Amino acid sequence: MTEFEPVIGLEIHVQLRTRTKLFCGNENEFGAEPNSHVCPVCLGLPGALPVLNRRAVELGVRAALGLHCTVHRRSIFARKNYFYPDLPKGYQISQFEEPFATEGFLKVPGVASGDPRRIRIRRIHLEEDAGKSLHDRIPGATAVDLNRTGVPLIEIVTEPDVRSPEEARDFLSRLKRALEYLDVSDCNMEEGSLRVDANVSIRRPGAGLGTKTEVKNMNSFGNVERALVYEIERQRELRSAGAEVVHETLLWDADRGEARPMRSKEESHDYRYFPDPDLPPLEISAEWLEAIRESVPEMPWARAARFEGAFSLSTEHVEQLTATRATADYFENLVDAGTDPGDAASWVMGEVMAAAKNTNSTIADFPVQPALLAELLQLQRSGRISRPIARRVFSVVIETGRSPTAIVEEQGLAQVTDESALEAWVDQTLSAAADEVERFRAGDKRLMGFFVGQVMKRSAGKADPKQVSRLVQERLKG
Ligand code: ADP
Ligand code: MG
Repeated sequence: MTEFEPVIGLEIHVQLRTRTKLFCGNENEFGAEPNSHVCPVCLGLPGALPVLNRRAVELGVRAALGLHCTVHRRSIFARKNYFYPDLPKGYQISQFEEPFATEGFLKVPGVASGDPRRIRIRRIHLEEDAGKSLHDRIPGATAVDLNRTGVPLIEIVTEPDVRSPEEARDFLSRLKRALEYLDVSDCNMEEGSLRVDANVSIRRPGAGLGTKTEVKNMNSFGNVERALVYEIERQRELRSAGAEVVHETLLWDADRGEARPMRSKEESHDYRYFPDPDLPPLEISAEWLEAIRESVPEMPWARAARFEGAFSLSTEHVEQLTATRATADYFENLVDAGTDPGDAASWVMGEVMAAAKNTNSTIADFPVQPALLAELLQLQRSGRISRPIARRVFSVVIETGRSPTAIVEEQGLAQVTDESALEAWVDQTLSAAADEVERFRAGDKRLMGFFVGQVMKRSAGKADPKQVSRLVQERLKG
């Protein structure tokens, strides 16, 4: 019997980075005092009327354009009716039959084949978030916080194009990177600004789509991958035993590493969707659409391709350098300030990232401006200081924000190239290492590195390693 092939489609909810909610003026703020950002509109009090947030539309449209979607100049808000304690209106305002964007895609490198694959995006629509039920706040009871009610979301729905849990994870991290470049969301999964539901079925290759289940409640991309591995295996066992997969919604339990049924899946007709009579169609003028198009930044894949071509860097390094927009900006500013692209790449991926991590920050708020680092790397490139010294100076620059040139001068860190000073260090080193010298002369040429290292140490990093190497060689020949 041929193997089953996984078929996966993802639904991603993304909170938009707006100041206020989608249909009222309450602040869109995470972590505020419960029920402090509410009003008659988001509480669904009778007679209160929604007014659409223009900024939310702009961010949604920008995201859709960045993801190659067709943006529709006219779309319709619909009511999705269901009962839940955290939904005071009894319906969620969403878009159903006429979403504002359709038919986009995002490429992934292709985990198995190595060829890039296009994951098609079926639609993106605008909707409001529901409130939050808190089950651990009051013992034995559920509390409801309505601050999140009405917060703007886009829902991104893919076609069932994803073929493995690993590919799902890869798609999601690329999508997150794209959304970060577009600056439409903070994409913080712990705070719920990015939430993923995964639809999955299995089939014999070439067969039609099988019955799917939907897995929810994964709070990291790693958990999405694990939940999919689990659910695919469960479906395989069912089907191999001749049983059928039931169309249902499952909740992932990360602690136990299993997905449990939550409810049998409702169909869209259960929601009794209908156009919201309180909201006119969303009309986007040609000029407005053009203005939003102008705000789409160079996307990560385009930037990566440009870096690869312009700076002859490897695909792998370019991936790292474009991991966030701030990293790519930092690298590019460094190069623009006259730094050799290779030096810039190596420092950004090495010292800069490490230093940012050490201070629990990111490159976005890294204290050393690229111009200052460019000055330091110029000192290194011209041979005035060695790389170890450059590292030392860098940490002083991070602490003090002072000019690298001034630090080098003040602390006397310039590389020593004066032959007689170097010869003295070499002689001292060799006479202190009689054993090693003997072994070297007996043929152990690997000790060269040891000698040079010792001389560098003696010079507190200030000797020029190339000259040292030459001098050691000369001495040991004689
Ligand atoms: P539903 O009506 O259950 O929400 P949709 O057709 O709206 O189903 O699709 C929702 C998501 O499920 C989409 O991402 C879609 O790609 C995916 N999907 C649809 N059918 C399947 C299937 N048979 N297997 C896996 N994913 C599927
Ligand atoms: Mg759906």
